[in-house]
Amino acid sequence: MRFSFNTQLLSRVFISLPAAGRWRAAQSRLFCSSPSSSDQEKPRASMLRHLTSKIKATGPVTVAEYMREVLTNPVTGYYVKNDMLGPDGDFITSPEISQIFGELVGVWIISEWMGAGQPKQLQLVELGPGRGSLSSDVLRVFSQLRSVFGGASVSVHLVEVSPVLSRLQAQSLTGNSSQEADSEDEPVYRHGETAAGLPVSWYRRLDDVPAGFSIFLAHEFFDALPIHKFQRTPKGWREVMVDIDPEKPDRLRFVVAPSPTPASSTLVQADERRGHVEVCAEGGVIVQQLARRIAADGGAALIADYGHDGTKTDTFRGFKGHQLHDVLSSPGSADLTADVDFSYLRRMAGGGVACLGPVTQRTFLKNMGIDSRLQVLLRNCSDPTTRKQLTGSYDMLTNPAKMGERFHFFSLLHHSRLAKPKKPDGLKLEKKKSPAPLPVAGFTELSFS
Ligand code: SAH
Repeated sequence: MRFSFNTQLLSRVFISLPAAGRWRAAQSRLFCSSPSSSDQEKPRASMLRHLTSKIKATGPVTVAEYMREVLTNPVTGYYVKNDMLGPDGDFITSPEISQIFGELVGVWIISEWMGAGQPKQLQLVELGPGRGSLSSDVLRVFSQLRSVFGGASVSVHLVEVSPVLSRLQAQSLTGNSSQEADSEDEPVYRHGETAAGLPVSWYRRLDDVPAGFSIFLAHEFFDALPIHKFQRTPKGWREVMVDIDPEKPDRLRFVVAPSPTPASSTLVQADERRGHVEVCAEGGVIVQQLARRIAADGGAALIADYGHDGTKTDTFRGFKGHQLHDVLSSPGSADLTADVDFSYLRRMAGGGVACLGPVTQRTFLKNMGIDSRLQVLLRNCSDPTTRKQLTGSYDMLTNPAKMGERFHFFSLLHHSRLAKPKKPDGLKLEKKKSPAPLPVAGFTELSFS
């Protein structure tokens, strides 16, 4: 039975996995203070110059274009140039706070692979892997449960725009074994092998990842994608744009477009009731690609991020040095982010796949057995400092007032995963009730006896 399978799997992982020694008490993007008066650093001259000359030449830019330039411009983009994660960076994420997070995601992946009938091939695909900590913790679980995979071939595929971060990911997952592609045009721009011999490939775009049964992970990835912003006005929906401040030519400001733009004419729902909305069209396209792949080749996607279900309005914000940062000041020096609208992702996924969630991070991690894993680690640890760090990072991940309720898990699944099992031919079971669909770990409570 599915429940006992998951419980056994978890018990095996929990008892045998070592502690990875990555317990950090740091602030996530949720608990940042406002900028201090000392945060008056000089504007990032090159990015600001680039943006102002573009605006002078062609007029105000959309917020999406602004965000895309600031974050992923190939020369000066924030993600392209920086390692922004961790206590010394601009923000910290769940996989960086505790190894337990990635271990539980690893168990989820194996559980979904088994739920799909243990296909001969498993591609682990991570979008925006940051420092590579999540995939690294997942692969430790895979190693521990090698025997479960039997002869299945497992490969790792990372979609990452940042050369700086791809080098950090390579170091974490493949040591010094990775190599860059000879030409910049190659879809696989870097490749290597893990210590256990699994191939790892790096791509700039999801489109370039080969087809095949895949489990896709996206942790704090969708919130980094460009959003369009729209304002309800007496004349109808208008797009919010970024322009040069006429009184201070080295400053930017928001303006409302006087007439409809292509985005304001197509991206706002006819029955929208809010006065201000943010739409991440790029995120919608990626979810459509994920849905198409899952429908065609099987597999699942696990998307974890802070977000809402189509209820919030203005969530666009910046982070620098663990503090809130004005989104228009010193572009390129700070992270820009917006809450993920899960109702939009669900709509864009369409009917070709099943969607589960969003459920809160607290619910997901508790359903996956985080309490049992914490107890095992505490039982094996006598050092008071490490014990304090263990309970502190557990609290950070699950406390409703910390990351427990702001972060959500959302999943796309192949329809067959939730379908009622077919009755075997020839058996006369007509009068009996059909078995219930199999529960999906994390989204359904497991019992630990
Ligand atoms: N998942 C990691 C990192 C989150 S930060 C964690 O939770 O710790 C966002 C990540 O997405 C970074 O690795 C960044 O370089 C990457 N990224 C941002 N925009 C991207 C895009 N358009 N395509 C691919 N990767 C992108």
